[in-house]
Amino acid sequence: MKIICIGRNYVKHIEELANEKPQSPVVFLKPDSAILPRKNPFFMPPFSKDVQYEVEVLIKINKVGKHIAVKFADKYYDEIGLGIDFTARDIQAKCKEKGLPWEKAKAFDGSAVIGEFYPKEDFDLDHLKFQLYKNDELVQDGNTNAMLWKVDELISYVSQYFTLKKGDVIFTGTPAGVGKVVENDVLKGVLEGKEAFKIRVK
Ligand code: ZN
Repeated sequence: MKIICIGRNYVKHIEELANEKPQSPVVFLKPDSAILPRKNPFFMPPFSKDVQYEVEVLIKINKVGKHIAVKFADKYYDEIGLGIDFTARDIQAKCKEKGLPWEKAKAFDGSAVIGEFYPKEDFDLDHLKFQLYKNDELVQDGNTNAMLWKVDELISYVSQYFTLKKGDVIFTGTPAGVGKVVENDVLKGVLEGKEAFKIRVK
């Protein structure tokens, strides 16, 4: 499986990183080796001094598809979830500065936290509320109604470039409030009141 991530999908997050608002979705990939195994802590990578959390709504693809039209995109997923796109912000800043790819900053081992998945019928995907708590303090408070590109538009867009396969996961971008983690932090993700993941940083 592969992980397809969307960057810069919430205006307030674009502003907090002083990025330009994109004309089309920013897309990057993580390999399956980036997935943090269930129940494992997140180990701080030795190559970064500024690892940041980004809580994101996840979409799990349920069948093969390419060139998917927006109006048919909802046929390609049954489950949604919540996760973290861990980012080595210092490495990413260097990559951006030099116009280099982001993989070392975004696709390293453990950088993809994938929490519980839930049936999409249980939720209103256009107004989905989700939060990240760091040590029980609310640090990110998102609502999918603030997305620049909606889930079905993202599926359609990425499927123009990459064939989607069953089991692929799309990270749909982070709202404002990203920040640094340090050893012994505990991160808890909540999707419409349900605890989707809880991980410790080591
Ligand atoms: Zn992200």
